[in-house]
Amino acid sequence: MKALLTWLNRLFAGSQNGPQPTLPNSSSPSKKSSTPAPSTNASATSEAKASEWQADPRSEKNLATVVPQLQKLGRELLRRLAAEGLTFKVTSGNRTQAEQDALYAQGRTKPGKVVTWTRKSRHIGGRAIDLTLFSGKNPVWDSKHYDRAGAIGEELGLVWGGRWRGGKTDRPHFELPA
Ligand SMILES: [Zn+2]
Repeated sequence: MKALLTWLNRLFAGSQNGPQPTLPNSSSPSKKSSTPAPSTNASATSEAKASEWQADPRSEKNLATVVPQLQKLGRELLRRLAAEGLTFKVTSGNRTQAEQDALYAQGRTKPGKVVTWTRKSRHIGGRAIDLTLFSGKNPVWDSKHYDRAGAIGEELGLVWGGRWRGGKTDRPHFELPA
């Protein structure tokens, strides 16, 4: 009997130490009505995260020179490659006709290596980007990872220069379809 009383005393004491009920008119410094509604859609949240994702500064600087649709697709391409541990950067975006002409001259009428096959590139007008693979600070030109970039780019609806034949193969190059 004494043991039961002790137990009841403990139970009672325990309930006294429990959380106090909140008074309905208790004054609170913040009003709940002013709190913004929480996000309700999980897929919208993940989409928002994807659109908020930022590439490295060099890529963002070059992406800013191309049309908005390509900015979005190019960033998504970089994001997916980064998720696979591959560091690609946008190393070229929009070019003026003068810039393209100068590139075309390289390796033809001017010294250097041939880097383009056309004077009528989709870079003019901001409808093409070049992606370069990096290993630390060093560009890597010969890698199977360009095929992976090409596959993801095509999945996103971009035209990949790696498909071009007849001396026109341009693996770093992606452009919006005509
Ligand atoms: Zn290109």
